[in-house]
Amino acid sequence: MTASIQFRWLGVVGTELTANDQTLIIDPYFTRIPILRTFFCKIQPDHELIAEKIKHGDFVLITHPHFDHLMDVPDVVHNTGATALGSANSCQLLAALGVDEQRIRKIEVGEKLSLSDFEVEVFRSKHMWVPGFTPGLLSPDLKPPLKAHSYRMDEDFSFLISIGGYRLLTDPGENPAEVPSADILFVFPYRHDVYYESLLQQVQPNVVSPTHWDDFFRPLSKPLRPLIQPPKWPPISLGRINLTSFRNRIERIYPPTKVFVPEIFQTYNLSEIIQA
Ligand SMILES: [Zn+2]
Repeated sequence: MTASIQFRWLGVVGTELTANDQTLIIDPYFTRIPILRTFFCKIQPDHELIAEKIKHGDFVLITHPHFDHLMDVPDVVHNTGATALGSANSCQLLAALGVDEQRIRKIEVGEKLSLSDFEVEVFRSKHMWVPGFTPGLLSPDLKPPLKAHSYRMDEDFSFLISIGGYRLLTDPGENPAEVPSADILFVFPYRHDVYYESLLQQVQPNVVSPTHWDDFFRPLSKPLRPLIQPPKWPPISLGRINLTSFRNRIERIYPPTKVFVPEIFQTYNLSEIIQA
C-alpha cells in the first residue's frame, strides 16, 4: 500500500488525488458563472482563479463536457502540462478551446487506463435530464468564447480509480445497473432512498462523500451554500440540499458506511478518511 495519497475536494465535482508526485484531477471548476449568464451570455474561464487553485496536474479526467465540468480544463492543461481525457465531445471542445491536440486523449466506456500509478476504469453513467443540456452533437461552429449550452454532452462517465490499494468511484449516474465495489463512493446527494439502497449494496463503500451539492452559480469569494434541490417526484425535500439529512439517510440505509463531507480545498490523507 502506498504510504500517502492526498485528496482535495475542489468544489462541485472537482477532485484532486496526489500519489508519488503525480496528480490526477477530475472535473475542476472554479469559475462559477452566475446562473443568468448561463442562459444568454458567452462565458469565459477565470484564468487568475484557476491558476491560483491548481498548481500541479498530470491527468485531468472529464466525466462529461458540461460547462461546470469542462470549462476550466483548458487553463489547467495550459498551466500544468497535464493530459486531459474525456469523451469525443469533450475532446472536440478542448481542441476548439485551444488545447494542444497532444494533450487530449479520447476515452470510451469499458477502457482501463494506466495513468502513472493510477488505474482508471471507465463506466457509463446516466446524466439527469436538464432542459437545454440534453445529449447530442456539438455545434459545427465552436468559436470561443462559447455559450453555456454549447458545452454539449455526448456521454457521461463514472470512473473507478485504483491507487495504492484503494478504490474510489465517482458518481455512477441516474440508473446504475452494474457498479463495482469501492472504498470511497462519491455520489450526488439528491436522489431517493431506493436509489441509495441498491447502489450501496453493490458498492459496499467504507465512506460515502457527497459531491455536486454546492451552489456552483455562486462565486468562491462567498461561503459555500447548498444547491436548490433538483426537482424530483415524489419530492425528497423542498429548498436547498440538506447534507445532515443526507448523512442520516445514508447511514440508516447502509450502516457499515459513514458519510464524509470534506472542507473545500483542504488536503486530506486518504488513509485517514477511510480509517477514521
Ligand atoms: Zn452535467
